[in-house]
Amino acid sequence: MDQYFFPETSRIGAPPRGWIEVICGSMFSGKTEELIRRLNRARIARQRVEIFKPMIDTRYSVEDVVSHDAKAIRCTPVASPGNILLMTGDVDVIGIDEAQFFDMSLVDVCNSLANQGVRVIVAGLDMDYLGKPFGPLPALMATSEDITKVHAICIRCGNLALYSHRTSESNQLVVLGETDKYEPLCRSCFNLEHGNK
Ligand SMILES: [Zn+2]
Repeated sequence: MDQYFFPETSRIGAPPRGWIEVICGSMFSGKTEELIRRLNRARIARQRVEIFKPMIDTRYSVEDVVSHDAKAIRCTPVASPGNILLMTGDVDVIGIDEAQFFDMSLVDVCNSLANQGVRVIVAGLDMDYLGKPFGPLPALMATSEDITKVHAICIRCGNLALYSHRTSESNQLVVLGETDKYEPLCRSCFNLEHGNK
């Protein structure tokens, strides 16, 4: 197995060095679960871990990164990416969840942290509900060492899903919600829904 797929192992016996990992995909693809898995492994190795998410995401607890299966990790909600730099102490690993809701300054913040030797793990939606690249995720992917794209399962046909199709009428870019407002669709089912060819 590619050693790079498990970056935790490459720290053993090596001097600290920073990089950026991106975990992206649609809603219901398990992004947050994968972020939590990586952060927990780092904590078991007694690495110092801090977790941030944008203040906008208040669906569940204000202080927890909560995946939909309720495996929670405590984290700090911040209003802007600059606050992450200010609030970061002596850490080895920084996790950032729901990164699509941050502005573009997140890209510089993550690169700055990585340049200082921090392992930065960013999870977020790579596309909005219309299938367009979402917020800082594309630029983060371009400047990261490692990208993991995870997939949901298409609710119509069972193929791999990459779109977060919105089932409600709102045209707002940010509508927080769960299965009552979004459903995962594959490319063909998304195109059927939107009349694309
Ligand atoms: Zn489908």
